Amino acid sequence: MEPVLSIQNISKSYGSVQALKNVSFDVPAGSVFGVLGPNGSGKTTMLGIILDILIADGGTYSWFGGMQKDAARKQIGSLLETPNFYHYMSAIDNLEITAAIRQAGLEDRERVLQLVGLTERKTSKFQTYSLGMKQRLAIGAALLGRPKVLVLDEPTNGLDPAGIAEIRSLIKTLNKEGITIIIASHLLDEIEKVCTHVAILKKGTLLLDGPVDDVLRSEDQLEVRAADMQELQRILQSMDGITKIRLADNTLQLACAPGIEPEHVNSFCSGKGIVLSHLLLRKKSLESKFMELTS
Ligand code: ATP
Repeated sequence: MEPVLSIQNISKSYGSVQALKNVSFDVPAGSVFGVLGPNGSGKTTMLGIILDILIADGGTYSWFGGMQKDAARKQIGSLLETPNFYHYMSAIDNLEITAAIRQAGLEDRERVLQLVGLTERKTSKFQTYSLGMKQRLAIGAALLGRPKVLVLDEPTNGLDPAGIAEIRSLIKTLNKEGITIIIASHLLDEIEKVCTHVAILKKGTLLLDGPVDDVLRSEDQLEVRAADMQELQRILQSMDGITKIRLADNTLQLACAPGIEPEHVNSFCSGKGIVLSHLLLRKKSLESKFMELTS
């Protein structure tokens, strides 16, 4: 399927600071795409460029297989910073102001309030909302006009764990509705939970990109123990698909080829007469992978 967005060799400098260096990646249709990187890695600059707010020094990007820019822009909802809603006005009235700009009717306002879970509080004043509700209303405003793509910059910034969980679940719901979502964030663990694809930036350079599962694959580690550790190590050395064995703290740490699951190791050992007293799959988080890459 054609990517929703294709970015080729984008570069951007601010004076002597090169914020982006020849960055290229594709955003697949239907994905939740995380643009990840530490502070100053160029994420906001990249979002600014693809939304036509900033002009790149070099490179190209195309939306929806080369759709004309104005037409493409109508298919994109974005939230780069918290919009200024009126504190003394209700959600529905605040949305009316945004809707006038987006040419969206009452039905659409009711639809987005439903999507972001604010229907019951739609007549409450904005100032009575929690931070999480305010952020959901902002996402609701970005959804007016039924965009096919939603671009969010650090959507969980400043929220408490409950607020973060609400936004996470909202992103998943919107994605199920068929909306492709591009999120810039430095919160790796958080993004790992919602993204299907990821591009990792470091000082303006793309380190890697692809499906989250591929990017993280082969990094998982299995831990095993048995009464006779020497015998366990000896027999595991003969098992196909174990690529590395390391003994630490009286535990064997195994690196396994793709497709080797804990149950395979368990049944292999039991077939050789060894009963495992400990079997644990340690999934390497995007966070530790990211720290390794960027530090
Ligand atoms: P953060 O998460 O801190 O917002 P980021 O990954 O979004 O970081 P950018 O904001 O795109 O990164 O910044 C990339 C680099 O460009 C940084 O070194 C930043 O200081 C610099 N930069 C960004 N905007 C400007 C500007 N208007 N003028 C000068 N330098 C800028």
